[in-house]
Amino acid sequence: MLNSQYTITKIKEIINANGAIVSENSISVLLTDSRRINNAAEALFFALSGRRNGHEFIAEAYAAGVRNFVVKHGPEIKMPGANFLIVDDVLTALQTLAAYHRSQFKLKVIGITGSNGKTIVKEWLYQLMAADHNIVRNPKSYNSQIGVPLSVWQISDKNELGIFEAGISTIGEMHRLEAIIKPEIGILTHIGSAHDEGFESRDQKIKEKLGLFKHCRLVIHNYDQLIDYQKSIKAECFTWSQKFKQADLYVFSEAVISRNFYLRAKYKGHEIECLVPFMDEASVENAITCWATMLAMGYSPVEADKRIERLAPVSMRLELKNGIHDCSIIDDSYNSDVQSLEIALNFLGQQNQHQKKTLILSDIFQSGLEEDVLYAQVANLISAKKIDKFVGVGGALFNHQENFDVPEKHFFHDTAALLKDLGKLNFRNEDILIKGSRSFEFERVSRALVQKGHETVLEINLNTLLNNLNFYKSKLKPGVKVMAMVKAFSYGSGTFEVANMLQYNKVDYLAVAYIDEGVTLRQTGITLPIVIMNPEVSAFDKLDEYKLEPVIYSFGLFDDFIKYAQSAGLVNYPVHLKIDTGMHRLGFEDFEIEALCDLLEENIYVQVKSIFSHLAASEAPKHDAFTLKQIAKFEKAYKQVEKALGYKLIKHLSNTSGITRWPAAQYDMVRLGIGLYGIDSAVPASENALQPIAGLKTSVSQVKKVPAGETIGYGRNGRLAKNGKIATIRIGYADGYLRAFGNGVGKMMIRGVRVPTVGNISMDMCMLDVSTVPDIREGDEVTVFNEELRIEELAAQIGTIPYEILTNVSQRVKRVYFYE
Ligand SMILES: *Cc1c(COP(=O)(O)O)cnc(C)c1O
Repeated sequence: MLNSQYTITKIKEIINANGAIVSENSISVLLTDSRRINNAAEALFFALSGRRNGHEFIAEAYAAGVRNFVVKHGPEIKMPGANFLIVDDVLTALQTLAAYHRSQFKLKVIGITGSNGKTIVKEWLYQLMAADHNIVRNPKSYNSQIGVPLSVWQISDKNELGIFEAGISTIGEMHRLEAIIKPEIGILTHIGSAHDEGFESRDQKIKEKLGLFKHCRLVIHNYDQLIDYQKSIKAECFTWSQKFKQADLYVFSEAVISRNFYLRAKYKGHEIECLVPFMDEASVENAITCWATMLAMGYSPVEADKRIERLAPVSMRLELKNGIHDCSIIDDSYNSDVQSLEIALNFLGQQNQHQKKTLILSDIFQSGLEEDVLYAQVANLISAKKIDKFVGVGGALFNHQENFDVPEKHFFHDTAALLKDLGKLNFRNEDILIKGSRSFEFERVSRALVQKGHETVLEINLNTLLNNLNFYKSKLKPGVKVMAMVKAFSYGSGTFEVANMLQYNKVDYLAVAYIDEGVTLRQTGITLPIVIMNPEVSAFDKLDEYKLEPVIYSFGLFDDFIKYAQSAGLVNYPVHLKIDTGMHRLGFEDFEIEALCDLLEENIYVQVKSIFSHLAASEAPKHDAFTLKQIAKFEKAYKQVEKALGYKLIKHLSNTSGITRWPAAQYDMVRLGIGLYGIDSAVPASENALQPIAGLKTSVSQVKKVPAGETIGYGRNGRLAKNGKIATIRIGYADGYLRAFGNGVGKMMIRGVRVPTVGNISMDMCMLDVSTVPDIREGDEVTVFNEELRIEELAAQIGTIPYEILTNVSQRVKRVYFYE
């Protein structure tokens, strides 16, 4: 976050720190995450202790060019030129600096708090008033003890109005945020049960929140919510209510007119009106809060109405989507408590698309209620809202299924079980509300029920990638590094998105096959070391330009590289040595090692970073004796080279199956490839430790009845045994669905049924025998592979390996990434 500058000496004085200033710098950026460094020269890094100790990331920030740090204690190693400001409490220092910065400006500031709706109200006020003021506000919902200082730091003398939200989760937090925001106008949004668990009582929570208004001149709030707290607020209040006439803005009528809420109210003795372009209760409540704020700040009722009518949604939690089989889906898959359930059920009740109302609900956590009480309440609510079909997910709901009196009900222990049986629940012509606690990952349910576009897409789940990475990390001995193999578009899964995820989660190296692949990664902002497995001489000039590290596997290549290094004036250029221990593909053989050592000893052009070899059959028990021989040859080779060079090298041998099957061969690093993408023949699928990250989907273009005896497709190879139906679908060999899958060899899945291909595969299309699929329709989704119809199965059908299936999906197929 950028702002006008402070010298580091001045900051030291503001936060009252110890430590010597070794170099006077000016600071404009505050950093709390070493993964998000920009403008390093002017950055001040705060080593905050959260889930990880921020002091662990100082070296990384230093390496990225950061020279100014606020810390509890100095670094263990020398970092020349860096300033370390030493304080007792790093968070307090951050907050003190932000509060000082705030105090330098005389702008008008609005402070918002409440349990729900803070971010929406903040963003809407911004939309409503941006025409009149230069406004500064929190990015997204940066409203925490760290987020608020970073937000306030953005204030500059251009700003005339600040709108800042403050979120707290326990007592003692608000006065710190108040001191940073120093609002003149306060707004209280809806108070619900969010974060109840951090407080002894609702009363305590409300009082803590009101702490934000300690020095306010004016506070805007819902009259009903604070009836018992009028004495706790010293400021002048502007209240609104839908119940009480004495409120300043008394909203006495609401009517729905073509998907808008039409509100009428009494204000200063006059009747005024406002059209809210939303349909759900939560939005209406937030809009009334904004309405009240505009009036309290002196906007005319006519102007306020005009602007509110044009409000745009702020990535609303309640989202309505078109579902499969003519269902409508309300997706509220990120949180769950009884109040928000009620609001969402009201929203469901307002949907008139379908008669049938369905609720998919997960267990509710942290309600502060006994389980029996909680689920009795939930069951009552569901009966009252006339739900026709109820799907409960989670152990607690499972145990309380007797409570629910609903025409149709289903219970599952977890989300995976629900997903498995989703097809059997037969969703058709229903309005479905999906509501779950975050940990249930109901976005997966939503994804399965929402209607997809008709194109062919490869869906990549980056969360799964991360799980797979962590699975392998858990198999590594302490200190063993990971080189992630992202060659061939990350085995077909995409370049930047996958590499970026891996970089963010701190693998040590990336490796690709060719120089151009490395260049692409650099151009998309990847800064990890990148190894080129098979560098082409013709592209050597890009190595230095893009800081790519070549593998040297033969004397010829070595020679070419030295010539390049000499002409380009490079010395000590990082390279990696490949030894052939039995694969007989690339690498120096054992009789060549001595000559290699001689060459290296007198060489100033290269610095050998690592030495490695590749296992030919690490996955196969029948070749274990051979693998052992490879291991022995590798050990002999690296010892020879290390001795000649006189310095330590990173040694690595294992690919995916080597990691799981040969723990003794981990050395200093492993090279993780196909396992990242969810496939490893050494890890039984039944263990569920790995999941494929990619799913290939397409859709039905046309359905036809075909009598027995007619032929289907090019070359007239296809026939149905009996009169039946075929579906023509949008994928062919040009998309990577090989011709070998034709004529019944390949199977796909439609509506949960596996169906064989019929006839030859065409370039852009192919046909499936769908005689056994009830109720098939044009537009239906077709699964080519996913976590159920597995890539391994497809590979077996045409006698190949999963690697080939994955990397064959052509670049024409759109990649869609998911990450929550
Ligand atoms: C591709 C590759 C790997 C990764 O192999 P997986 O079996 O996919 O884990 C490792 N090392 C080298 C040299 C490779 O080319």
